[in-house]
Amino acid sequence: MYLIDTHCHLNLPNYQLDADTVIRRAQDNQIGMIVVGTDYKSSRRALDLVNRFENGVYAAIGLHPGELEDHEEEYGGQKIMISGEKYNSESYQLLAKFPKVVAIGEIGLDYFQRSLDYELREEVKQRQRKVLEAQLELAVVADLPIILHCRQAHEDLLKMLASFKKKFRDALPEDRPWGVVHCFSGDETLAWQYFNLGLVISFTGLITFSQQWDILIRKMPLEKLLLETDSPFLTPEPYRGKRNEPILVKQVAERIALIKGVPVDRIAEVTTANARQLFKII
Ligand SMILES: [Zn+2]
Repeated sequence: MYLIDTHCHLNLPNYQLDADTVIRRAQDNQIGMIVVGTDYKSSRRALDLVNRFENGVYAAIGLHPGELEDHEEEYGGQKIMISGEKYNSESYQLLAKFPKVVAIGEIGLDYFQRSLDYELREEVKQRQRKVLEAQLELAVVADLPIILHCRQAHEDLLKMLASFKKKFRDALPEDRPWGVVHCFSGDETLAWQYFNLGLVISFTGLITFSQQWDILIRKMPLEKLLLETDSPFLTPEPYRGKRNEPILVKQVAERIALIKGVPVDRIAEVTTANARQLFKII
């Protein structure tokens, strides 16, 4: 059984001391992964990290909508001020050329309220849409699939993806997906809106401690599903409270097997094939 954790952040300071060990542990357990960037620095770090391994580990590069404004982040109980990044397409274009880069992500929209100032929020949303549009075009130029992050912005995201698809119809594949909505948290209707656009969705350890998505998971085609951990966040049961890591993607696979009533080997077989097809990896 081989699994692919399609979304982890071993490039974050949480793994500063042992990222290599965590990757090796995953490889020893038949688990591949995609290390996902959220800004330029973490995208470079993802690439540096995966370049140390011959195969099985890949990188995604991109600017997350939450990284555009100045904000505070907490690491090990310490609060650090992070300044917002201005999107520079040339620098990301250069990164996208490396063979180990298999996707543009994570990119998207995040309208989760950080500020109560309505005017400011409108301006922030607009900036997010502009940067997303630029990165969707980067994905076309680089011929790479996208990894999407979306929080409280599905209506706008669907609109943007639909017009993007229209504009770049000839550049996007028709017979296979061209992107994934990561850490999917919506309902069945929303899932099918994404499927109809040619996208797939992925689930994290969240489904091991919430039953909210059981019905959707039971009914949805396995061909539209990817697995992820979103490490270091969203640690699955029974390890909640500990730092997450790619080997725990097994917990997500087992939970899906249980919900769907199929052997976990079947879940592994199909979701791994889905990931290989989307990210064009062996
Ligand atoms: Zn993420």
